Amino acid sequence: MAVEIIVMVKQVPDSQEVVIDPVTMNLNRSMTRNVTNRADENALEAALSIKDKIGANVTVISMGPPQAETTMIECLARGADRAILVSDRFFGGADTYPTGLTLAATISKIGKYDIIIAGEESSDSSTGHVGPGVAEFLDIDQITYASNVDYEDGYVIGERELEDGTEVVKVPTPVLVTVLLNSNDPRRQTLRRKIDAIRKGFEVWNIEKVGLPPEWVGVRGSPTIVRRMRSIKEKERAGKKYDLTNLGELVKELYEKKVLKMEEE
Ligand SMILES: Cc1cc2nc3c(=O)[nH]c(=O)nc-3n(C[C@H](O)[C@H](O)[C@H](O)COP(=O)(O)OP(=O)(O)OC[C@H]3O[C@@H](n4cnc5c(N)ncnc54)[C@H](O)[C@@H]3O)c2cc1C
Repeated sequence: MAVEIIVMVKQVPDSQEVVIDPVTMNLNRSMTRNVTNRADENALEAALSIKDKIGANVTVISMGPPQAETTMIECLARGADRAILVSDRFFGGADTYPTGLTLAATISKIGKYDIIIAGEESSDSSTGHVGPGVAEFLDIDQITYASNVDYEDGYVIGERELEDGTEVVKVPTPVLVTVLLNSNDPRRQTLRRKIDAIRKGFEVWNIEKVGLPPEWVGVRGSPTIVRRMRSIKEKERAGKKYDLTNLGELVKELYEKKVLKMEEE
């Protein structure tokens, strides 16, 4: 039987155009240009590379408003086999807890899964909670911050960059992996594939289909409440200048601030 890979993809506001609703303190997603979270493009590429190697089925899931359809089409055009947009007004205003719960419930409803791949974090809220949260809700193992993902005979092999080397982790499926931003070079969508993707279409799942009670999801299921937000004025820096022909002064200062160490220490 083919290996089933699920990729979690979030549509995020273009980081240049973030608008906050002054009343709800939530992001106003309808006022911004939306793009696919870049680390999730790396997650999809990791899945497609495994598909190229062993012929797996790749399903993309996203929880978000209807405008996330562009991300669904984009993922299909890059090579995903199936795309599910989990979208319902009940899911709106979710913090990371119900987001993870809703995605985990969706994955359970899909049924068979061997590998779940997510990005390391989103570029808008950037908590990095959702991937590990889904693994916890599903009670499966996880490999976080992987720079490379591979599959071999029922095992996922993840490489993790550490300060002093690379850690290689081999875990039997099912397993959830979160991948680093820029860990690979995502393939492009061709016009031909885009037309096919639009023809193929994607599924939209509402709360009944996901099968969670309304009070567990969205804003009602969210323990986090944003009370207040304020803009922070950037402090002007003193901007000390050094004479580059006399680096001794700089080295001495860095040594005193314990930024540099002498070899014998
Ligand atoms: C302190 C704080 C308070 C917040 N309070 C609120 C609030 O009150 N109301 C509100 O609306 N929002 C709130 N948010 C935003 C909300 O938590 C996130 O947008 C959402 O839950 C996803 O979390 P994240 O963006 O941090 O994802 P991360 O955990 O950074 O994402 C990691 C990966 O998980 C996957 N992923 C994440 N989200 C999705 C998704 N929707 N669909 C598919 N895959 C996904 C992707 O693969 C992604 O790369 C808050 C965020 C923070 C940091």
